[in-house]
Amino acid sequence: MRREALTTVDTPAIVDAVPKGARDKLAKLGIHRDFDFVLHLPLRYVDETHIYPIAHAPFGQLVQVEAVIVNSEVRFRPRRQLVCLVEDGSGEMYVRLLNFYPSQQKMLAVGSRVRLLGELRVGFLGPEMVHPQIRVVREGVPLKENLTPVYPTTAGLGQEPLRKLIGRALASCDLHDTLPAPVLKQHHLAGFEGSVRYLHEPPPDAPINELESRAHWAWQRLIFDELLAQQLSMRRHYARRHDLIAPALPAKQKLTKALLRALPFALTGAQRRTFDEISRDLSARHPMQRLLQGDVGSGKTIVAALACLQAIENGYQAAVMAPTEILAEQHYRKLHEWLSPLGVTVAWIAASVPKRARDSMLAQVASGEAQLAVGTHALFQEQVNFSRLGLAVVDEQHRFGVEQRLALHNKGVNPHQLMMSATPIPRTLSMSYYADLDVSVIDELPPGRTPIVTKLVEDARRDEVIERVRAACATGRQAYWVCPLIEESEKLQLQTALDTYQVLSSTFPDLKVGLVHGRMKSKEKAETMAAFKAGEIQLLVATTVIEVGVDVPNASLMVIEHAERMGLAQLHQLRGRVGRGAAKSACILLYSPPLSDMAKARLKIIYEQTDGFEIARQDLSLRGPGEFLGARQSGTPMLKIADIERDQAMLEQARALAEALLREAPDAAELHLARWLARAEQYLKV
Ligand code: ADP
Ligand code: MG
Repeated sequence: MRREALTTVDTPAIVDAVPKGARDKLAKLGIHRDFDFVLHLPLRYVDETHIYPIAHAPFGQLVQVEAVIVNSEVRFRPRRQLVCLVEDGSGEMYVRLLNFYPSQQKMLAVGSRVRLLGELRVGFLGPEMVHPQIRVVREGVPLKENLTPVYPTTAGLGQEPLRKLIGRALASCDLHDTLPAPVLKQHHLAGFEGSVRYLHEPPPDAPINELESRAHWAWQRLIFDELLAQQLSMRRHYARRHDLIAPALPAKQKLTKALLRALPFALTGAQRRTFDEISRDLSARHPMQRLLQGDVGSGKTIVAALACLQAIENGYQAAVMAPTEILAEQHYRKLHEWLSPLGVTVAWIAASVPKRARDSMLAQVASGEAQLAVGTHALFQEQVNFSRLGLAVVDEQHRFGVEQRLALHNKGVNPHQLMMSATPIPRTLSMSYYADLDVSVIDELPPGRTPIVTKLVEDARRDEVIERVRAACATGRQAYWVCPLIEESEKLQLQTALDTYQVLSSTFPDLKVGLVHGRMKSKEKAETMAAFKAGEIQLLVATTVIEVGVDVPNASLMVIEHAERMGLAQLHQLRGRVGRGAAKSACILLYSPPLSDMAKARLKIIYEQTDGFEIARQDLSLRGPGEFLGARQSGTPMLKIADIERDQAMLEQARALAEALLREAPDAAELHLARWLARAEQYLKV
C-alpha cells in the first residue's frame, strides 16, 4: 500500500506526455513530477461564475460582464488605440486596448457578443475597462462553475494549458492523506484532498479575500504541510549526521580550568551556560552540530577556545576557521596568547604565509604536533591534513558556503562542529533555517561595557563630526572612519577610501591616520591593524573590511559614511567595533538625504535599538527572510507558500510534529517528504 502511494507520487505520466519545450517551462516552475502539479497552487482567483449587469457592476475590482459591441473604432489621439462601446441592456461602457492585434479587432467587431473580465474604472469617456480578458460567446454558453485560479507561470506557458494539466493531475494522482486522522484533529487541520481540490477549484461562493490572504482553512492545511516537510527534511538530515560516530571528548577540565584561571575576567553566565552545552555535546560519541549565536562583543571567542581545549585535552586537534584574513589573524593572536602558556602549539595557516613557514606549519598539523590550527579557508585546502581532527570551529558561519564547510568536515573522521555567528538570527528564522543544528545563544554582554550612543547626522554637518573625532583622539582615544559601500564598483569604492584618507590626513595633520581596504596585501593590512591596536594609529580609515570581529578596546568613536546604503546587520556589526572598553563610545551614522521610506525605517531601527536580536527581528519583518538571509543560504529549502513570520505558530507545531513523526511514525514521515520534497533528482534515482 505504502509502496504504491510512493509510486503514484513519482509517476511522471502527465509530465512525460508534454512536449519537450513545454516540459522545460514546467521545470522552471519546479514541476517535474505529476504530483508537483497538485502542489502548484494559485496566486489568486478570478470570478467568472457570474455576470454583472454593467449598470450595477462595482468599480475597482475584477468583474465579468457580457455585452454586445455597438461601436468599434481605432483612434489616434492621444495615441493609437482601439476604443469600443459595449452595451448589455442595463447600461454601456467603453473597452480600450492600447496595443492590439487584428484578431482582437475582429473579436470586437460591431455586433459580436463578448464576455469581458476586467476592472471597471471611471475613464475619460465614462465607465471603461482597459485591456480586459475577452471571450467571444454564443448565446447560452454556460458560466464557469468554480472560481478561476490564476497560477504562477512563465513566458510561453498560458493559464489555460496549465489549468488543464493540473486538472489532469488532480484526477489521476493519489491524494490520500499523509497525516493520521488524530494528528489532523489535534492541529485543527482539514484533509489534504479536500484542501487541494478547494484551492484549485474553489466553489463560486468561496471567500476570495480569505483565499488570497491564505488565511483560509484550505491554505492553512497546505502551509502546514509545507512547513512540516521542511522540518522533517532538516530534522532527518540532523538525525543522519547525528548517527555518525565521532570521538567522545569528555570534559577532563585540565586545560579548560587552567585557561579560566589565567583569564583576567570571569565568564558571564551566558558564556558558562553555552560552554556547558558545547562541553556536553563534545563528550558524546556523535558529532556535535551546534550553532553558537551571540551579539557582537558577547565573547564567543573564549567559548570557542574552551571547546578547543576540551578536544585537545583528549588528545585531539582542533581547527578554527574565519572568513577573512584580518579576523583569522586576530583569532590566531588571541588563541596563541591564551593557549600557548598552557603548552598548546597553535599553527597559523593562511594564503599570505610564506611557503617555507607554511610548509612547516602544515607538517606540524599533519604530525599532530600542532594541536590547534587557525586560518582562513586555506584550512580547507587539500594539502592540509590533520592527524587527529576532533573539532572544527567555523566563525561567522553564514559567510561560508555549504561546500566549504563540508570540505573541512571531510578532513577528519566526522569531527565535532561548532559554528559561530554574530548575525543574530531571529528565533523563527533559526527554527526554520537552522533546524538541522542545535543552537546555543549568548544573550548577555560582558560587564563593564558602557552602552554605545548612536547619532544620525546629515552629511552636510560633517564639520561637527570632524570636531568630535579631533576631541576623541585628543583624549587618547581612537576612532574608525568607515567609507561608504559602493556596490556597483569596487574600483570606485577603493578610490573613495583613498580620497577620504587623503582628506582626513590633511584635516588632522597632528594625528596619525591609517588606511585599510580590501585591495591591500594581507601583510600590509595586518600591519596596519596591529599599529591601530598598539595605539600608533589614532584614526583608522577603512572600507567595510573591518566589519567582523576586529577588537580594539581603546577605540571609542566610529563614523560611518552613507550609512543608508548599508544593511542593518552590517551597521550593527560595525558599531560593535566600539564600546569594547570602559570608555563612553559613540557611533555616528552619516547619511545623505533624500532618504527612501525604507532607508528611513532602517536607520530608525539602528538608531533606537542596541540589541542585535531585536534589530534582526525588525529587519526581518521589514525585508522578509529571502533578502534577510541573502543568497548564502541557498543550501536550505525555500518555502513557497509558507511565511515563517506570518505562520510562526504553525511553524512551532510543525517542528514538534516532525520530531514526533520521525520517532513514532517514520513511514508517515517518509511519505510526507516524498510528496513534498522529492524533486526530479529523487525521481531519477528510483
Ligand atoms: P565576539 O562574540 O564578538 O566574537 P569577542 O570574543 O571578540 O566577541 O569578545 C569581545 C571582547 O570581550 C574581547 O576583548 C574579549 O576578551 C572580552 N570578553 C569576553 N568575555 C568576557 C568576559 N566574560 N568579561 C570581560 N570581557 C570579556
Ligand atoms: Mg568574534
